[in-house]
This record gives sequence, structure tokens and C-alpha cells, in this order.
Amino acid sequence: MSGTAEPTVFERIAAGEIPAKMVAETDRVIAFHDIAPQAPVHVIVTPRIGRHRDVVELAADDPELLAELVSVAKGIADDLADGQFRLVFNTGPAAGQTVFHVHAHVLGGGLREGSLG
Ligand code: ADP
Repeated sequence: MSGTAEPTVFERIAAGEIPAKMVAETDRVIAFHDIAPQAPVHVIVTPRIGRHRDVVELAADDPELLAELVSVAKGIADDLADGQFRLVFNTGPAAGQTVFHVHAHVLGGGLREGSLG
């Protein structure tokens, strides 16, 4: 965690500085449609609080908040994807992470059976 880094795009969405198509909100978590969807349902679920860079930091520091992220993801999948979904946490630049504020991709609807990509 870093207290001095510039806010990421997701922290700016949480602060209301950048618009997003919200699908769920709790006191600690927000969820919104990804701006460049990779599946029929592609929603980002991210904490509105904290400065956790990735899921490994979040799991170590605040496992209850990680559990809340998963719970919100499940609710979105129930509403939008018949409760069936892929939950992806890109972790590190070499794994494709570009926004360094922990977030889950909820992917669902029309995914190919057995597909990893
Ligand atoms: P990747 O870009 O490889 O998916 P991440 O796992 O860090 O890396 O995911 C960042 C995600 O945030 C991307 O899917 C991107 O389309 C999405 N995104 C970036 N800016 C916005 C925005 N303003 N509103 C919604 N989604 C955004």
C-alpha cells in the first residue's frame, strides 16, 4: 500500500470524479460496467476504501473486505449472468494488471466452455 500515490481511475470513480455505469454499491464496495467489455457481462468490483494494490495485499490486510468483494460479485452474477461467472484478479503488470487498485473482473454470459481466455 502507498498513501502518497496519485489516485487510480477506480478511486476517482469511487470519489465521483469520473462517471461510470454503476451496477451495485455498498458502504465499502462499488461495481460498474467495464468500459471495454471482454464478455457479454463484464463488471468491475472494487473497494471504495483503502489503497490495496492487488488481491494479495487485500487478502493479507483485510480478508473481510475481500469476502465482501466476492459476495457483491456473486450478487451481480445472479442478476446478470444466471449466477455463473468467472472472477479474475489480474495481479502484476506481467499478468495484464493496468489499474493498481485491487479489483475483480466479473465475466459472464456466453463464455466458451473450458475457455481460459
Ligand atoms: P486490463 O486492462 O489488462 O484488464 P486490469 O485487470 O488492471 O487490466 O483491469 C483494468 C480494467 O479497467 C480494464 O478492463 C479496463 O477496460 C477497465 N477500465 C479502465 N478505465 C475504466 C473506466 N473509466 N470505467 C470502467 N472501466 C475502466
